Amino acid sequence: MALTGLDIFKSLPKTNCKECGVPTCLAFAMKVASGQAGLDDCPKLTDDARSSLTEASAPAQRLVKIGSAPHLIEIGQETVLYRHEERFHHPTAVALTINDTMSEADLTQACEKFKALSFHRVGETLTSDMVALVNDSGSPDNMQAAAETIYNALGVPMVLMSDSPNTLSTVAMGPLSGGAVVLYCTGPAEVVDLVAMVKDTDAKLCVDGTIESVAGQVEKLNELGVKDILISPGKVSAGETLEFLTKSRRGTLLKKFRQLGCPVLTLAVGDDSVAAALDACAFVCKYSGIVVSNAWEGHLLAPILTTRQNIYTDPQKPVQVEPKVYDVGDVSADSPLLVTTNFSLSYYSVESEVESARVPCRIIAVDTEGTSVLTGWASDKFNPETITQAMKTAGVDQLVSHHKVVIPGHVAVIAAQLGEESGWNVLVGPKDAGGIGAYLKNDWKNV
Ligand code: SF4
Repeated sequence: MALTGLDIFKSLPKTNCKECGVPTCLAFAMKVASGQAGLDDCPKLTDDARSSLTEASAPAQRLVKIGSAPHLIEIGQETVLYRHEERFHHPTAVALTINDTMSEADLTQACEKFKALSFHRVGETLTSDMVALVNDSGSPDNMQAAAETIYNALGVPMVLMSDSPNTLSTVAMGPLSGGAVVLYCTGPAEVVDLVAMVKDTDAKLCVDGTIESVAGQVEKLNELGVKDILISPGKVSAGETLEFLTKSRRGTLLKKFRQLGCPVLTLAVGDDSVAAALDACAFVCKYSGIVVSNAWEGHLLAPILTTRQNIYTDPQKPVQVEPKVYDVGDVSADSPLLVTTNFSLSYYSVESEVESARVPCRIIAVDTEGTSVLTGWASDKFNPETITQAMKTAGVDQLVSHHKVVIPGHVAVIAAQLGEESGWNVLVGPKDAGGIGAYLKNDWKNV
């Protein structure tokens, strides 16, 4: 937890020497507490005080970085239990499983499929982030070869899962030694074996077990200098996994139990792929840092990625697009002109329906501070005056020749007043964006 200015002040030299550029030690402490200055700015601070202040002010949950740009994954360092308190900061990494028993050709095909599993939603491209390579063959050579094939094809970080510490040590060396792997030993291993696995590499370590046992392992590993650790409940039921996730987050943030201050890796795999995908969604909602999944089908993976996108947006800031006129398709002066708000979900719902209908349109996104059509209307941000002003700002009378504008069916009540205000012929479109395609094809030409 962050230290207060007074907490910091107690450890300062209290000489008011001003060498930090601030008139008093108290003022300096306040600046450090608010993040405007760093402890290094005080040349008089003793090493002991610096080290105790640094440790005390460290985040309760450690930030773990895996790999490097453009595939850098950052997980952990979360600060709240509930996203409405602040927000969740580092999105869950989704790791798709691959077995090292696959042939070279099948591995290559799997990598192509990994790249193809990409979804566009509300202006963002959603993809999985990692591969979880499982050592089902039991052979270090097989795992090494598979890891190199995958890494060369995708370049994404990997979770390497094997019951053999020796196999993991071998694979973690070579081209994967740059820190782009999490080593997860699924078999029994002594702490010294775990330390040996990550020695001389930048690999991260995952340990599993009960809350009590992982806390003990993390404490010993920390004492031996291993800091970048993930914890996992292992292959247990969904209910037990959720219990582990909740207990570890609460223990870290509320009870300041630093041995649990590690991101959590969860396993959402199983023969029932639909149930496993649902488990993955639940684990994303409840704090998982990495979720290992076998959702290799688009209809299973998309809900997981959509859940992540929703959970990791800032609940205090509506997601919005720039308020302006957008050209969708090969527009001309005859193209329909549609109006919606600049709430991302509203705008992209309309845009995707227009794209699907293959009828080029112009869409005006009116600035409603990122609120939806009905919320914007209820709060008087989506009204005849604001829509008319948006049309004028966009210069639509220079862009279209038909002088017709289509408004969402939910605000049909403003049609007459908008007609008077703007001088345009106002048409009432469907209430739901899903009806736009049919409207453009069946109704637009006839009105
Ligand atoms: S440099 Fe250190 S001792 Fe001097 S005023 Fe600043 S905080 Fe106080």
